[in-house]
Amino acid sequence: MNRFVLMPLAMMATVFSSPAVSAPAQIGPAATSLRVGNSTVIALRDMLNIVPNDGSVFGKDVGSKQVAAALSEAGAPTDRITLGVDALFVRQSGRNVLIDTGLGPKAGGALMASLAKAGVKPDAISDILITHSHGDHVGGLVTATGARAFPKAAIHMSAAEWVWMQQKGDPALVAAISARMKTFQIGATVLPGIVAVGIAGHTPGHVAFQIGTGGSRLLDIGDLAHSAILSLGHPAWIIGYDTDGLAGRKSREAWLARLAASGERVFAPHFPFPGIGRIKRQGGAYAWQPDVRGID
Ligand SMILES: [Zn+2]
Repeated sequence: MNRFVLMPLAMMATVFSSPAVSAPAQIGPAATSLRVGNSTVIALRDMLNIVPNDGSVFGKDVGSKQVAAALSEAGAPTDRITLGVDALFVRQSGRNVLIDTGLGPKAGGALMASLAKAGVKPDAISDILITHSHGDHVGGLVTATGARAFPKAAIHMSAAEWVWMQQKGDPALVAAISARMKTFQIGATVLPGIVAVGIAGHTPGHVAFQIGTGGSRLLDIGDLAHSAILSLGHPAWIIGYDTDGLAGRKSREAWLARLAASGERVFAPHFPFPGIGRIKRQGGAYAWQPDVRGID
C-alpha cells in the first residue's frame, strides 16, 4: 500500500472529521449485471476499504473486543473489517444512470475499468445520483487531474447534502461539479422510476435510491449499513462513519426491520461484491443473504 493510494481516504477523514484511519486496497474491475423490471442494473467494483478493528469506527460504543468476537463468530479475521467500495449503473427510460462513483482514479479505484467492462463509455452517462458526499461516493466524479470524469452527466444530490458538501467538502471537487449540480428534495422522484428515500443519520442529506416498483425493484441503501457482518448482526452498535451516531442507529434498526419484513432485494455498496441480496432475520438481529437471481 503506497502513500499515494492512502491519501484520499485520509483526506476524506480530515474533510468529514471521520475517525477512520482506513486503507483503500486495489482489487481490479468487476461488473455484474441483472434485470430489474425494465431496467438493466450493473454493480460496478471500485476498490476495497480495509478498516482496522481499533474501536474507532465499528462498535465505537462497545469496543474492539466485542467486535472481534462478532467477527470471529462469522469466521472473519478479527483485526480488520474489509468493506467493498462499489457503485451501481442503471439503464432505463433511455437514460444511463450512475449511482455513486467510488473513491475515484486518484485513489486507484477501478470504477472506470468496471464501466468499460460493462460496455459503458463515460460520456454516455446522462445522470449521476449521489447517496451522500463522502469521498468513497463522490471521489470518482473527477479524473486524476480534477476534470469532470463524466462530461455530459447531470449530477443529482439532495439539497441538504449539497449545502453540507459546500461547507465541509473538498473545495476543488465542489468547484468542479457545481455547474452540473441539480439538487432534489428527499422523497422526490429524481428520474423516471427512481425515488430518493431519506435515511437519516449517516450524513445530513443521506438518501437511498429505490429503482423500479412492486415486485421488480431494487433499493440502493447507500450507507445505511457498512459491514454485512457487523452492521446486520449488531445494528445497535454506533458506527464512527455516521455524522449523527444515534440517528444512524435509529435508521439502521428501523430500516433493517422494514427490509427484512418486505424481503425486497437491495444493493449495498459496501457489502461483498456485487452487494446484491436480501436482509433476513437471524436471532435477535439480521444476516445477509446474497441473491443474484436474474443476473445475466
Ligand atoms: Zn460509504
